[in-house]
Amino acid sequence: MRIMNTPIRRSLSCLLIGLSALAPSTLSQTKGRAPISPAAQRLDEGYTAKIREYTTEPFFLTELVDHLPASDTVPTPEKVLGYVIGTPNKLTYTKDIYRYMRELEKATPRVKVFTMGYSEEGREMILVVISDEVNMRKLERYKEITARLADPRTITDEEAKRLIAEGLPMYWATGAIHSPETGSPEMLMELAYRLAVEETPFIQEIRKNLIVLITPVVEVDGRERQVDLYMYRKANPQKPAPPLIYWGKYVAHDNNRDMMSLSLALSRHMMRTFLEWHPQVLHDLHESVPFLYTSTGTGPYNAWVDPILINEWHLLAYHEIEEMTKRGVPGVWTHGFYDGWAPNYMFYVANGHNAIGRFYETFGGRGADTSDRTVPAAQTTRTWYRPNPPLPRVRWSLRNNINLQQSALLFAMNFVARNKERFLHNFYLKSKRSVLKATTEGPAAWVIPADDPRPVECAELVNLLRLQGVEVHTADREITVTVREGREEKKVTVPAGSYIIRMDQPYSRMADMLLDTQYYNPSDPRPYDDTGWSLGALKNVRTVRVTDPAILTMPMTLLTADVKVRGRVVGSATAVGYLINHNTDNTLATFRFRLRDVRMLAAEEPFRALDRSFAAGSFIIPVEGNPPDLRARLEQAAAELGLTIFAVEEMPTVPTHEIAVPRIALVHTWTNTQNEGWFRLAFDRLQIPYDYISVHVLRDTPNLREKYDVIILGPTPGSAQAIVTGIPKRGEPIPWKKSELTPNIGTSPDQTEDIRGGIELEGMVNLKRFIEQGGLFVTIGSNAAIPIEYGLIQGVSIVSTRELQARGGVYRAVFADKRSPIAYGYGDQLAVYFNQAPVFQVSLTGGLGGGGAFGAPSQQLSPRPSGRGSLTDPDIPQGRPYTPPPPPSRPGEESGLPEEVSEFVRALLPPPEARPRVVLRFAEERELLIAGMLAGGQELANRPAVIDVPVGRGHVLLFANNPMWRQQTQGSFFLLFNAMLHYDHLHVGRQRARAEAVTGEEDLQ
Ligand SMILES: [Zn+2]
Repeated sequence: MRIMNTPIRRSLSCLLIGLSALAPSTLSQTKGRAPISPAAQRLDEGYTAKIREYTTEPFFLTELVDHLPASDTVPTPEKVLGYVIGTPNKLTYTKDIYRYMRELEKATPRVKVFTMGYSEEGREMILVVISDEVNMRKLERYKEITARLADPRTITDEEAKRLIAEGLPMYWATGAIHSPETGSPEMLMELAYRLAVEETPFIQEIRKNLIVLITPVVEVDGRERQVDLYMYRKANPQKPAPPLIYWGKYVAHDNNRDMMSLSLALSRHMMRTFLEWHPQVLHDLHESVPFLYTSTGTGPYNAWVDPILINEWHLLAYHEIEEMTKRGVPGVWTHGFYDGWAPNYMFYVANGHNAIGRFYETFGGRGADTSDRTVPAAQTTRTWYRPNPPLPRVRWSLRNNINLQQSALLFAMNFVARNKERFLHNFYLKSKRSVLKATTEGPAAWVIPADDPRPVECAELVNLLRLQGVEVHTADREITVTVREGREEKKVTVPAGSYIIRMDQPYSRMADMLLDTQYYNPSDPRPYDDTGWSLGALKNVRTVRVTDPAILTMPMTLLTADVKVRGRVVGSATAVGYLINHNTDNTLATFRFRLRDVRMLAAEEPFRALDRSFAAGSFIIPVEGNPPDLRARLEQAAAELGLTIFAVEEMPTVPTHEIAVPRIALVHTWTNTQNEGWFRLAFDRLQIPYDYISVHVLRDTPNLREKYDVIILGPTPGSAQAIVTGIPKRGEPIPWKKSELTPNIGTSPDQTEDIRGGIELEGMVNLKRFIEQGGLFVTIGSNAAIPIEYGLIQGVSIVSTRELQARGGVYRAVFADKRSPIAYGYGDQLAVYFNQAPVFQVSLTGGLGGGGAFGAPSQQLSPRPSGRGSLTDPDIPQGRPYTPPPPPSRPGEESGLPEEVSEFVRALLPPPEARPRVVLRFAEERELLIAGMLAGGQELANRPAVIDVPVGRGHVLLFANNPMWRQQTQGSFFLLFNAMLHYDHLHVGRQRARAEAVTGEEDLQ
């Protein structure tokens, strides 16, 4: 699953020569007494010979796949494609894979092909169904049986028993969600043929007792580009080829981290197809580690799934390991890769819905090359979970990969077929225990109160749950429920219309794992991905966990369609203006851009009108000076965007400034487009216009300010230097561009003649000019190192941490400066996504004097000297009157300088109006963790999270948290939107804060 960087092999080859001849005779000694003898079926001799030729060692074959049966009626892959599956240097485009699958469908009643849907770029996803022809005639009946077992509320145990006896389990194999992992789509074509044609008892058993589902390519856009690149590389062996810069339209590897948010087309198609067929197993095929890892994981395991599922993971994994090991195949193992914790992987389509989700990692890589490979030492050592480890040095081919994947998958399918009632019964039992959850382990329900200040985000969360197959009800009247908080119980009353997610339904576990709070013990094995994800917190939507089952008897109505918040314009037709309360519902940003020609003002203070409170930042739209059809347009926008707009006959008297319609550039590098892709997706979904530009545009455009008001550098991995320098300019240009050999690159979001180079020093100069001329430059996460290290800003540094462990979780932040326009619409606190770094330090001297030069930060960890009294008592020296100490400063910020010191460093100090302004900071240590992992929290506590640094007439905005992470952090979106809409008024509120400052620390605001 993980993208493996494998540049190390070449230099080691001479050292390890000789190891590749490692005793094949002993490894393959069990060959020839295999338990599954081929029936007397004619073989396709030519194809069979090629399989053996392309396999590099006999121990990378099993008797299941060392041959291909012949058929007079059903075409082999070779007949349709012109080559045998696993032929060196041959990869197959998705369109040709589909052509083959549809030829199979035409030739045999054992195969059917269905369309699942289309990708963002319009390419088809398919589901291939394979079973015995008798079963295929009754497909609808089998779908009905799994659907009924999936919802035990509708059947008795007796009926279930009959359905299990009649039914067939379904096993869904999915390939190439990760585009550089190229083997599985090839393998799945051959598997489909073998399952349809072969007449060994082993295959017959699968065909008779199982319905096999195959999606040969999950990431269809990325597959086509990957094959393009491979063809290009083969046709131009002397030229440098680019890496696969774009996989899908939006994200790369993270397409396998979208199952909580279902924001990508492929995720939604997978989810919908699952809910149509209810397969018992979903098996996702990945390629990274040698030779075959079958998933169980190190733990900690997801705490919301049924323990039966954990046993099933192990049951299937150990069956495969045993069968493969018996046949002398080295390096088939489990456990020590990935944790099993977060539910964001694609196979949570199954795990989150009472089925089994699992995956392989096989040794893939390098397209369809055959080459000598060195296996990293960490993966060749023998250990308890890898008693038969991979070989340290191996000649590896695409065919080897296909042999291992296909053999192990066949063993798993055969096992499920042979134990069909067991797996169907487990599926029914897990579904039933999910329904019972409300009254066994609980909670009874989750409630999203209808009086939440963000109705649109509430509706979005409800609609997401519905996409997950979760039933959501609305309360028919006001209800009072008992809520337990820690050891205390309290009553909570929520209004009619509040959303209720009952836990006595089949998919209660998926809803519960999305809405609940996670705790990841820092002593557990290192997390593979995020440790916390509580969606209510991240979306800034209130969710109430209700343990009292009494809620289940309260009157409520099932939602039968998605929720659409009905916005409207309220009040007088003779209005002089219109007001919209700033509630940080993200469609407010859509609204500003949609009515771009309408003059809108922002209230700089909270105010009251029409007996209501309006937050600072609320929109004020005067009639005067605006188009005559203003009201009609407001009515239309309100209805579509879920906004409530109040018409007023008197304008509020509050200081205001104009809300901008900024021209936005979203910048990507040519090395990694993954994490910025989530920003593009968020902007596109909210219909916020932007130019998508590469770092080269920064480099080549001296007058950036003429084109843009806001430039957002999307999050991208790498040091400041690596991003500024980019890909070294050596040799010849490396194009990422549509050509005859690479037609599919033409549909990717950006193209270039040459990916080399980065922002470069020219770009830094251009950026500096852009900011000084009034532009806003935004960095996300570690990219803050760019303006810091290249001197675009002063007064902020990034500090390294020694003990902090805050890996991909939800952390509490507090607004440090509520008068900043960036804080508009928010309350006092916000849950943010943060992953370990950066941790910011703000200092008056901008690092020139050293972060701790004036002593403040180092004192914070020991609050008082040993002495009289308690920890919080003042220390009192004896024999003199008591003098209180100076007020402590905040961690992450140097204290105000004593005047006599300022006198000496005046030349180094920025003037007050140019000092960094901390808008949002992390909460105190004991309040910091909301969900996930936290250790060493004192290194993060109180540190700045969002810093606005004035430079010239413009600003640089630094985010420690990622405000647009994987479509999970809708609650943080408006931090960025506020900054954009007020990019030319970010100084607002600053003077007043200074006037009220009491301590030197506050002076920094
Ligand atoms: Zn993968």
